[in-house]
Amino acid sequence: MSIILQAEKLYKEYKTSSGAVNALNGVDLSIEKGLFYAIIGRSGSGKSTLMNVLYGIHTPASGEVFVKGEKVTKFDPKEAIRRGIGMVHQHFMLVPSFTVAENIVLSREPKKGILCDRKEERRQVADLSREYGLEVNPDDVVGDLSVGLQQRVEILKTLYRGADVLILDEPTNNLDIESIEIITATIRDYAGTVIAISHDREFLKDTGIEREILLE
Ligand code: ADP
Ligand code: MG
Repeated sequence: MSIILQAEKLYKEYKTSSGAVNALNGVDLSIEKGLFYAIIGRSGSGKSTLMNVLYGIHTPASGEVFVKGEKVTKFDPKEAIRRGIGMVHQHFMLVPSFTVAENIVLSREPKKGILCDRKEERRQVADLSREYGLEVNPDDVVGDLSVGLQQRVEILKTLYRGADVLILDEPTNNLDIESIEIITATIRDYAGTVIAISHDREFLKDTGIEREILLE
């Protein structure tokens, strides 16, 4: 058994005009490599906050996070990406007027020469797409795609950056049936570690959820 991601006694509160809101109250977490986890719990129980801490968007007030046994000392998404954590947010961060290939590659390297880059970019995306069985057309303009396919592009983007842990925040929320089918197939065929915040029983069953973590 190999633990890829671990959290111990995480605390986090938000300061608001009407006082402090307790979002995480000593949360422990242990994620085994290659398994599919569902994070469940009522609205406001801290699911998104926990994922945002793991992705380095929030710094916990106290507690510790370990990625592949290494303690995280700086909470920062760049740092999380470097350690192999990828996150797909509820609201995507794609550039609608750019192609699939541009969106995926854009996230990493500065451009060299536009012309030779293009070809290389498309080849890399095609390779990645084949490797993970996540079919996309590198030349499609992202704004023209269904939400399901856009989500697939988001996932490929994290894989391109080398993610081996995928965090998904409510991946089927507000999706049409066709998009739910696409995202279900995407996750079912993905062999890495997945942590999905979701109450969608059908999605969790169809993707083959293996562990449930309840936040209270
Ligand atoms: P969940 O994803 O389980 O619905 P959240 O992590 O979004 O829960 O929220 C946990 C608690 O923190 C809730 O009480 C919520 O209202 C509060 N909260 C979340 N984000 C903020 C924020 N940016 N500012 C103030 N309070 C917040
Ligand atoms: Mg949430």
